[in-house]
Amino acid sequence: MTKLLEGKNIVVMGVANERSIAWGITKSLHNAGANLIFTNRQERSYKKLVKLLDKHEIEPKAVVSCDVASDESVQEAFNEIKEKVGVIHGLVHSVAFAKREELQGEYVNTSRDGFLLAQEISAYSLVSVTKAAQELMTEGGSIVTQTYIGAEQVVPGYNVMGVAKASLEASVRYLAEDVGKRGIRVNAVSAGPIRTLSAKGVANFNEKSHVVEEKAPLRRNIDQDEVGDATLFFLSELSRGITGEVLHVDAGFNIIG
Ligand code: NDP
Repeated sequence: MTKLLEGKNIVVMGVANERSIAWGITKSLHNAGANLIFTNRQERSYKKLVKLLDKHEIEPKAVVSCDVASDESVQEAFNEIKEKVGVIHGLVHSVAFAKREELQGEYVNTSRDGFLLAQEISAYSLVSVTKAAQELMTEGGSIVTQTYIGAEQVVPGYNVMGVAKASLEASVRYLAEDVGKRGIRVNAVSAGPIRTLSAKGVANFNEKSHVVEEKAPLRRNIDQDEVGDATLFFLSELSRGITGEVLHVDAGFNIIG
């Protein structure tokens, strides 16, 4: 049987280390037969990624540098991907950032700078990478981003990032409308709390995952591999009729009042 993503070129943005959600996604996509292209920002993440790929015997099609804070960097990254790979069929956006001091205390104290930075890196970046990626998706494609329930409900301490995720989810819908006519779909996975480098910056992380264990219908937390498989679904033909959607991979936590 052919694998779900056999022969498909997929760009993965946001592997910082083996705990990254994007690494769970990488494993799912690799097992499904995808050709993988990676982007990262920091040298430290690049080194970790290269080691992980080596350890898991995954041969990337390309690894390119991309800082989503710069339009130039995004454009250069996709130019390089076009040169090295040509057509792409999918893009995984697993990138976010907020200042640590904005992720505690009251949202009302959010600074102008902190607000704009969170929006820029965590929400606008999806707009800019979709614009660049659509030019390489000449055979149609699928774009998947990562969001969190703090977009829909007040999660104490998530603050400015909750508002950025609300903006990200609205962007998923507006972008889905724009690129749908080119046969490109845009969706989001809303994962439950997972202990990653970024999650360390969010106040009371342990408390959040304990609440999920207590209240979620499945009475447990979810992991990177489960997000990986849901993302694989969105990138594959199995989800061909779905766009502009936010799918919760949270052991059912979001349905509990
Ligand atoms: P990680 O820290 O592992 O990944 C975050 C990634 O964002 C890093 O690879 C980092 O790259 C990248 N990044 C930050 N700023 C930039 C930038 N300017 N340009 C390019 N890349 C940048 O954390 P997660 O895996 O947890 O986060 C991935 C996504 O999942 C985020 O959108 C997060 O909000 C979301 N999410 C996380 C949940 C959780 O509980 N962990 C729950 C639900 C959603 P670098 O290391 O090179 O700086």
